[in-house]
Amino acid sequence: MIDQIVQHECAGCGFCEIACPMDVIRTDPVTRKPYIAYRKDCQTCFLCEHFCPVGAIKIGLERSPKYSTEFIWSQVLKIREIDAALSKDEPGVKGG
Ligand code: SF4
Ligand code: SF4
Repeated sequence: MIDQIVQHECAGCGFCEIACPMDVIRTDPVTRKPYIAYRKDCQTCFLCEHFCPVGAIKIGLERSPKYSTEFIWSQVLKIREIDAALSKDEPGVKGG
């Protein structure tokens, strides 16, 4: 389960909020920094930690039993599909 977002290390890029399939993370409209809005929904999937470019997110190993592993992976695969579709649209990254 997500433990902490270290504010002084955070660069405010917003990747963690976009990456989270469970909508755990929200961005403070004033500071533009993320905060943990729904900690109990966290499924310890490590996506936010993976995408954080500065290592500001700390994850513990406890996991909420609220959602099934199948559901979590369906969300992760959806993100990967979106990522792949976006990469195809970017000029200069198509294979040839
Ligand atoms: S570990 Fe996964 S579910 Fe938990 S906050 Fe990060 S991205 Fe969201
Ligand atoms: S991904 Fe990391 S640097 Fe970017 S907003 Fe989230 S905690 Fe901050």
